[in-house]
Amino acid sequence: MSERMQPISFKNLLKWSLDEHKKYGSVFGVRKEKFYKNQSKTSVEVFGDKLSSVIGPAAGPNSQLAQNIIAAYLAGSRFVEVKTVQTLDGEDLGKCVPRPCINATDECYNQEWSTELEVPQALDEYIKAYMLIHVLAKEFNLSDEKDFAFNMSVGYDLEGIKSKKIDTYIESMKDASKTEIWKKYKKFLSDNLHQFKRFTQEDLDKMSPCIASGITLSTLHGCPPDEIERIAKYLLDAKKTHTFIKCNPTLLGYEFTRKLMDDMGYNYIVFDDHHFKNDLQFGDAVDMFNRLIPYAKERGLAFGLKLTNTFPVQKKNGELPGDEMYMSGRSLYPLSISLASKISTEFKGRLPISFSGGADTFNVKEIYETGIFPITVATTILKPGGYERLKQMALKVEPLLSGKFHGIDVEGVAKLAREVREHKDNVKSARPVDGRKTSSELPLFDCAKAPCKDGGCPIEQQIPEYLQMVSEKNYKQAFKIISTDNSSPAVLSMLCDHQCQHKCTRLDYDSSLEIRNAKRLAVINAQDEFLDNIEQANILTNKKAVVIGAGPGGCSVGLFLRRNGMEVDVMEKRKMPYGIVSHVIPEFRIPSGMVQRDFDLAKNAGVNFHFGVDENFDVDELKKKYDFVVIATGAWVEPRDPCKEGAENFWGALDFLGQAKRSNLDLKLGKKVAVLGGGSVAMDCARTALRCPDVQESFIVYRRTADFMPAEPEEKELALEEGVKFLELVSPVGYDKKTLKCEVMELGQRDESGRLSIKKTGKIVEFEFDTVVNATGARVDTSIFEKQGLELNKWGYAQINEHNEASKENVYICGDCKEGASTIVRAIADAKAISKDILRKCGLVHDFVKHPTVISEKELYDRKGVLERASKEEKDGDKCLACDKICEICVDVCPNRANVLVKINSGTRDFADSHQILHVDGMCNECGNCGVFCPHAGRPYKDKVTVFWNEEDFIDSTNIGFLRMSENKYKIRNEDREIVEYTLGDNNISDGLKEMIVATNKDYDFYMNIEE
Ligand code: SF4
Ligand code: SF4
Ligand code: SF4
Repeated sequence: MSERMQPISFKNLLKWSLDEHKKYGSVFGVRKEKFYKNQSKTSVEVFGDKLSSVIGPAAGPNSQLAQNIIAAYLAGSRFVEVKTVQTLDGEDLGKCVPRPCINATDECYNQEWSTELEVPQALDEYIKAYMLIHVLAKEFNLSDEKDFAFNMSVGYDLEGIKSKKIDTYIESMKDASKTEIWKKYKKFLSDNLHQFKRFTQEDLDKMSPCIASGITLSTLHGCPPDEIERIAKYLLDAKKTHTFIKCNPTLLGYEFTRKLMDDMGYNYIVFDDHHFKNDLQFGDAVDMFNRLIPYAKERGLAFGLKLTNTFPVQKKNGELPGDEMYMSGRSLYPLSISLASKISTEFKGRLPISFSGGADTFNVKEIYETGIFPITVATTILKPGGYERLKQMALKVEPLLSGKFHGIDVEGVAKLAREVREHKDNVKSARPVDGRKTSSELPLFDCAKAPCKDGGCPIEQQIPEYLQMVSEKNYKQAFKIISTDNSSPAVLSMLCDHQCQHKCTRLDYDSSLEIRNAKRLAVINAQDEFLDNIEQANILTNKKAVVIGAGPGGCSVGLFLRRNGMEVDVMEKRKMPYGIVSHVIPEFRIPSGMVQRDFDLAKNAGVNFHFGVDENFDVDELKKKYDFVVIATGAWVEPRDPCKEGAENFWGALDFLGQAKRSNLDLKLGKKVAVLGGGSVAMDCARTALRCPDVQESFIVYRRTADFMPAEPEEKELALEEGVKFLELVSPVGYDKKTLKCEVMELGQRDESGRLSIKKTGKIVEFEFDTVVNATGARVDTSIFEKQGLELNKWGYAQINEHNEASKENVYICGDCKEGASTIVRAIADAKAISKDILRKCGLVHDFVKHPTVISEKELYDRKGVLERASKEEKDGDKCLACDKICEICVDVCPNRANVLVKINSGTRDFADSHQILHVDGMCNECGNCGVFCPHAGRPYKDKVTVFWNEEDFIDSTNIGFLRMSENKYKIRNEDREIVEYTLGDNNISDGLKEMIVATNKDYDFYMNIEE
C-alpha cells in the first residue's frame, strides 16, 4: 500500500470502460442512467470550443487520473480543468503531501495542490482521457461531435513554467499530434475499431490533437504582482494560449474576510493576515488586469480570471496532519462570490470570470445566470453521490446555455454576494454537527448500514422502513414498525433530540431527512387506531417485575415486559405518569394529549400502574414479592448553585417550569427574566417566561457563545424567533434579586474536546433582572442507591453491568437516575436493554422484530447524487437512500474510483448482501476521503478487501487482500495478516476471501489491471 497511484494503460482503460458498461451498465462506477446528454441542443463557447455544458471538475483530485476525468465527463462535465502541473512532481511532490490530504466533512480542507504524477505521466493521463472521451461519447450516444474542452492549469513561477518539462507539457497539450503517445493511442484505436458499435475511423480522423488551448495560471501565495503579469504575458505572447489568472480570496482583504467568516458562523476557522499582506493587492490586481486585457485582445486571445483559488487556513482542530491547509466548499462560496462581485463591479462586468469555490446544485443556475462561466467544482463531488451529482448540475443550467461570454450582470452577482451572508446553504448553523461517523468497526464484508438507526438511534428504530411506509401513506404499518422499538412514539415525535438526523447520510447531500416529523405523521394518523386494537398478551411466566417510577423509562419497561408476557407493576409517587415530560416540559412543546397517547400504549397493554405511592421504597422488601426490581426514579434535583453570592435568589428550573405548568403560566416574574444555562431546559424556561404575564424581556445567560449552547439548533431558533435574547460570554457571579453580576468571558483556543476554551477576563458587568432561573442542569438524588445497599461507582451512582443490572441480582437501574439527566430516548434504550435481559432470564422471547420493506435497487440508485430541499411532507421519505440496503458511499466519494463494487450471487459463504466492496490499491493515493464518509469508524481504503496490482505494493501494505500471480494462483494476506499462496479451488483461505477472488476473476477481471 502506498499513496502512489498507478496510471492504467490506454488499452486497459478502454477494456474496463467497455466491459463494465456492457456487463453492469456503468463506467468507473457512474451508472448509465446518470450519464449526461444535452437534449436541448444548447451550448456555450469557451476558447473557440463549443461545450454542451458549463460545468466540470476544478483542477484537483477529480481531474488527475484518466478514469477520474472520464467519470466526470460521463456524468455531465464539459469543461475539465485538468490538475495543475509544475516542476515539483511525482514522488518528490508526494513526499511533501501529508496523508490523508482531504477532509470534506462539511466545508472541505485539502493539502494537495498539483498533480502527484510526474508531468509526462500527467500528460499521458490527460491525452488518454481526451481520446477516450471522444470514443465513449460517441459509443454511448452522448454526443456525435466534440462537446467538451480541457483547460490546463500550470504553476507556479515563470522559471518553472519556462522549464523544459512544463514547456513540453504545454506544447504537447496544445498540439499532441507530434507526441508518441498520441500516435500510439490513435493507432490502437484504429486497430480496434471492431470493438466499437458507433465510433468510426472518420471520428478518429477528425479528432483534434489540440487537447487544450487555454491555461489557468496558478501562482503561489506571495507571488509578486510583476511576476504574475510576466507569466500571463509570457503565456499570451510566447505560448499563445488563452489565459485566465487564478485569484486568491485574499484579494478581499483580511478585515472583510474575517468578518464575513465570523458573521456566517465560521469563527472557528483560523487564519491571520500574513497571506493578505503578502498576496497580490486589489489595487495592483486591477492595474495589472487593465494592462492584460488589451494585451490579450491584441493577440486575439481570451483573458479572464478564475475565482477563486482555495483559501489557506491553519489547522487547529486536527482536520488533517501538517500545519496549513486549503479551504473550499460551502464556506468558500461567500468569499468567491464576494470577490466576483467586487471585480465585476470594478470592471463593469466586462472581464470574464471562470468560477470555482463552493458551486453546487443549489447555486449553479444562479451563478450561471449572472454570466459567469465556466463553473468548476470539487467539494460537492467529493461527497456522497460523488461524480453523479454532476448530472443534476448540468441539467439545471442546460436550458440557459447561450453562446459566448456576453458580460456579467454586475447587480446579479452583487445580489448573490449579499444573499449568501444569510443563506441557509452557506451559514455554518445549517449543519450543526460534525462528521456522521459512528463507532462501529468496519466489517470486511456486509458493511452497509443505516447510520440513522445503527449508531444514531439509541433504540435502533427501523427508520428507513418506517420512512418508506410514511411516504407511501401506509401509516398503519409505519406505526407498527415504530412501536416495535419505541414505547413513546408520540412523545418522541415531539421531543426527541433526534440523533438519527445527525447521522443521516442526506446531511452530506442537502439536509437530514425529517425523521422525527415522519414519526409524528404516523402517530397522528395511526396511533389512536393502534390503541383501540391492542390485545393484551397472555401472561407467559409466573415471574413478576416492579418498576419504581412511571417516567418514560419506567413506562417503557412496563410496556416491553407486559406485551411479552410478564406481569408488571409500575409504582409512581406522583399522580401522573411520564415524569419530567408531563410535570415540567411546557405544554407548548408537548401537549398533554400526546403524552396520554403513549401512556395508553402501556396501560392498554395491561401494565398495572399505581400512582401516589409512598416514595420510600425498599428493594429488599420488594424482592420478596417481585422477581425483578427496576429503579427508574429520574433526575429531579435542581441544578448546582452557579455562583456563591446570592445563589438562594435563583429559581430552580424544574420548580419554575413545574409551577408555570400547574398554574397555567400564571406566575409573577416581573418584566425582565434571565435564565442561566444553554440547554433545552434553559430554552424552555426562557420561552415559558415570555408567555407569563407582565414579562417583557427574557434572556439566556451563557458562558460561551450561542454556537456552543447544547440545546438543539431548532430550539435555539425557536427561542430567538419568539423574542428570547442571548447574552453570550457572561458567567454569573452574584444576584441580589435585582442585579445579576456577571464576569465577562473570552473565547480562547480549542480545548481537547474540540470546543473553544473560555477565559475569565476579570471584568464584571451588571444587568437588572426581576427573576433569574437557574437551568444549568438537573441532578440525581444518588442517596437512594446507598439506602438500598447497592454498590456505588466513583460518581455516587449505582454500579451497573452491561445490562444495567446493579450489584444486587435482578435489580436494574433505568433512565436519568442511572448517570444523570439525559434524553428520553436514552431512557427508553435502557428500558429495552433491561427488558431483553429480564425476558431472557425468564426464557421468554422478545418481540423487537424486524419489519423488512421492499424497495428496488434501481429506485435507490436513482436517488444517489440527487440533491433536494427538505420537506415536512410525507414524501420526504422518498429521498431516503436506505443506506442499509445500498451504501457504496466509499465508491461514490473516491475521486480516483479506487473503491469498486463486486456483486456476489452465490458461493459457500453466506453473504448477507450481494453487494461487496473491493478496494483497488493501484488507484488509491490515500487521500482519506472514503474514510471521512464511511459511516463506520473504519476507513475503507485500509479495512476493505484489497486487490493489488504488483508484488511491491502487496508487500508494502498491511491490507487484507490478494494479488493475482497467474490465472489460477494468488498471493493472499488473510484476516490474520498472514501471507499465503492460494490456488483457485483450494480451501486454505476463508470463504469470504475465496468468493471475492472468484467473483473478481470471473466477472471483474478489469479490476486487476492485467497487462497482456
Ligand atoms: S438516508 Fe435514510 S437510511 Fe440513510 S441515514 Fe438517512 S434516513 Fe437513514
Ligand atoms: S480509496 Fe479512499 S483514500 Fe483511496 S483515493 Fe479513494 S477516497 Fe482516497
Ligand atoms: S462507505 Fe463503503 S465500506 Fe463504508 S459501509 Fe458504506 S459501502 Fe461499506
